Amino acid sequence: MKLDPKNIRYLSPEDWRVLQAVEQGSRNHEIVPTQLITTLSNARPGSQSSRSISTLAKNNLISRIQNASYDGYRLTYGGLDYLSLHAHLQSSAIYSIGNQIGVGKESDIFVVASPTGRRLVLKIHRLGRISFRTVKSNRDYLRKGSSGSWMYMSRLAAQKEYSFMSALRNAGFPVPEPVAWNRHTVVMGLVDAFPLRQIAKVPDPPALYGQLMDLILRLARFGLIHGDFNEFNILVEEIGPSGRTLNQEYDEDEAVLPSNPHDQNHPAPTDKPVTLNPIIIDFPQTLSISHPNAEFYFNRDVNCIKIFFQRRFGFTSDEPGPFLADAIENVGQGEGVRRLDLEVEATGFNKKLAKELEKYMKELGVDGDHNGDGGEETDGFVGEDDGGEEDVSGEDVIEQDSFAEGAPEAEKEILPESSEDL
Ligand code: ADP
Ligand code: MG
Repeated sequence: MKLDPKNIRYLSPEDWRVLQAVEQGSRNHEIVPTQLITTLSNARPGSQSSRSISTLAKNNLISRIQNASYDGYRLTYGGLDYLSLHAHLQSSAIYSIGNQIGVGKESDIFVVASPTGRRLVLKIHRLGRISFRTVKSNRDYLRKGSSGSWMYMSRLAAQKEYSFMSALRNAGFPVPEPVAWNRHTVVMGLVDAFPLRQIAKVPDPPALYGQLMDLILRLARFGLIHGDFNEFNILVEEIGPSGRTLNQEYDEDEAVLPSNPHDQNHPAPTDKPVTLNPIIIDFPQTLSISHPNAEFYFNRDVNCIKIFFQRRFGFTSDEPGPFLADAIENVGQGEGVRRLDLEVEATGFNKKLAKELEKYMKELGVDGDHNGDGGEETDGFVGEDDGGEEDVSGEDVIEQDSFAEGAPEAEKEILPESSEDL
């Protein structure tokens, strides 16, 4: 299920049409009959489309289902990845694909570049992957709902993430910039920072703790609970005296480190303290403050931070709470405060979709990055989840020109409602 973009450049326009036909056919067919693939791809029956089918199958973009009562194919994760990447390349949301920086339980994260060379993040949702790993047996459910449900649910998770990120960004919350959403993937700004989980020491733990609790309360005022607010999903930017992140300062002026007090061009750093700027990511579990279990999730978010600060920094706040009951009094209150839960619903990610996704995630046992009961902290700064987040030495950046070769002009014509029909 690894993304391997290498072969994207070898696909012909015909191959793309056939791949899109398999996707389209899988909306109504668990196994898409070969005949239907040919019809949907507008191919002349005969050698052309069967050649494409075999190319796609060889590249594991579709897979032949042997035991079916009829001859047919199913779109694979790889096939869905290709369709989604292709769309991002066509719309110029991205230009090239770089290294994989994360393997989460339900996602793969890549650094990609925009056409202007800006570094972005591509998050590929893989809901359902966990079902192969978890000991909890959800097989019956998965079988029942299996008609492309991993595909549908991963798309739903991506749509949800993009919708909440957009609403939050728009309201001035510190979240990555949402760039694009297509199928099961989201493109967003790259945050130049490490997760809190990887930070050994901070200059002023009570201050950072206060910032994080304020964020939880501010989210609540805007009608939202993050639902997975923890040390993995909070990236901490270190802002230096110049107002840029320390990494930027380092990149732009490596010679300064270590500083040379006699060097006029590179004076020693001032004593002005570094400020920490938490950025929140990962929104597939975000919920409305009106959700029936709002209190449970609100308390869990608060407690994740409390437990982490106690274990990592030995800091315990004197103040109890914050509590949902108090936060609820302020929902929608204050200048410029809006109900983002309602706004997101209005953009199309409605209650029905939210419920569907929530139910599926529950059945799969997907419950965020946190350690459940607050869990034990493992040695160092490497948590259970980090175990999977190894740095994968990925592909070298591949130029879009090579991707674009042979790509069909108008994906939309073939799949008019490809991303709007969720
Ligand atoms: P998951 O749902 O699998 O937990 P996340 O959205 O939390 O996925 O991303 C996993 C990891 O990838 C994060 O902990 C972080 O290290 C990295 N990451 C994700 N998004 C970004 C981003 N926009 N900028 C920088 N790093 C990111
Ligand atoms: Mg996460």
